[in-house]
Amino acid sequence: MAEYDAIVIGAGIVGLSTAYYMKKLCPDHRIIVIDKMNAAGQGNTAKSAAMFRCFFYSTTNLRLVDTSVEFFKHVQEERGVDLKIRWTGYLWLFSEESYNQIKGVLDTMSRLGLQYRLYDEKELADRLGLRTRVTHDEEAKLMNLVDVYKGIFIPKAGSLDVDSLVKFYEAEFMKLGGEISYGTEVKSFVVEPRLPLGIPNEPYFWQESRVAGVITNKGAVKAKKTVVCVGAWASKLLDPIGIETHVKPIKRQIFCVKAKSEFLSKLLWTKGFNREGCMPFLILPKPKVYIKPALEEESFWLCYGDEFPRAYKLEEEPQPEENFYKYGIYQIVVKYLPQFRGATYSSAFAGLYAVNTIDRQPLIFEENDLIFAGGTSGSGIMKTDAIGRIVAALYAEKQYATLYGGKEFKIEELGLKKRKIEPEKFVI
Ligand SMILES: Cc1cc2nc3c(=O)[nH]c(=O)nc-3n(C[C@H](O)[C@H](O)[C@H](O)COP(=O)(O)OP(=O)(O)OC[C@H]3O[C@@H](n4cnc5c(N)ncnc54)[C@H](O)[C@@H]3O)c2cc1C
Repeated sequence: MAEYDAIVIGAGIVGLSTAYYMKKLCPDHRIIVIDKMNAAGQGNTAKSAAMFRCFFYSTTNLRLVDTSVEFFKHVQEERGVDLKIRWTGYLWLFSEESYNQIKGVLDTMSRLGLQYRLYDEKELADRLGLRTRVTHDEEAKLMNLVDVYKGIFIPKAGSLDVDSLVKFYEAEFMKLGGEISYGTEVKSFVVEPRLPLGIPNEPYFWQESRVAGVITNKGAVKAKKTVVCVGAWASKLLDPIGIETHVKPIKRQIFCVKAKSEFLSKLLWTKGFNREGCMPFLILPKPKVYIKPALEEESFWLCYGDEFPRAYKLEEEPQPEENFYKYGIYQIVVKYLPQFRGATYSSAFAGLYAVNTIDRQPLIFEENDLIFAGGTSGSGIMKTDAIGRIVAALYAEKQYATLYGGKEFKIEELGLKKRKIEPEKFVI
């Protein structure tokens, strides 16, 4: 039976960045990544909108994202790997009430050196053709829409090509001598006593036991440490051995609308906000439907992260729902942006967020030689470099991880027992 220093389960963005930094910190260790799919990044990483913003109130979020984005920038600009970073910026729309609530937070963020620009109602209407006053409309009132009062533009934000990022981490891991086995599904864990006594079916509850590897469709693989980075599949895999991850899967859907009409094309290529010469990533005030400018395909990606009564449900192939667009997203978008009138989507897809139901921040902890990393809650791409470094530092038995740029991060802040998370006040 093959025996490794570590097995990393999951070749999504989190598993790959983790495996890369583990191998970097422990070059002599034999480390294998396994995934049930036939290539890297085919799980929910492939379903991402791949947006990022370095603008958070929570210092936990800010440290994780900002250092990751700085690393992506370094990879593209100094190492010459094209991650197709687009600095579109985020344009966040607020009603008067919600702007007044957030004003104090913005002042604090400004004092911390975070940059943003404010746009008033008229400028937004002129630049984007946005209808800022919607509440005189009976339908809009029925739908609980609100008038737009201000827009906050965040320049250090944009998108990247997630497949290029996946390939980057995969290639770097392989270059260091890492091994990968695709088409390998973990069915269960090998659990052994630390001190085997040869009793039938051990370990028993009075024995000290540990995870010693995995049973896969291709046989058993043993390892000193098993690192679980399976995103939305966390509780499916870990519930059977009594490890609580607090992670639940929830469906998220993206509808792609081509900028075919003259009005939509003009909106997509709105000038004056960013160096891309395009509309920024736009977040409507309420409900917070978001619209990504997908420049390569001359289209818009429309999405909304609905909560109650959306089920927490694990699906292997979640499907987008036609009515979610037709009677949901479309109806809202068209009230603010009449350019979308009559627009149907040309394609759509759905994936799963792995939601950490405690505080929606990543969770990284170790139990009985099993390391868990997950609960990325819809921002796993933008945090992935920091997450990978933190998991690797835990694996290397350190207390602190060094994030890109040299900042230290205390690993237990993302753990369960001594968790220390600063809550976020800027949530989409
Ligand atoms: C619609 C949508 C939009 C999003 N937009 C953004 C965004 O704009 N910005 C952002 O930062 N994040 C975004 N996210 C979130 C982001 O995609 C995730 O946080 C990230 O991809 C999680 O990566 P992961 O490696 O944890 O999970 P995954 O990519 O799902 O990887 C887990 C891997 O584990 C494997 N696996 C599972 N079970 C087993 C098993 N038993 N045996 C072997 N392998 C197994 C799977 O095959 C999979 O490859 C979005 C997500 C969705 C769904």
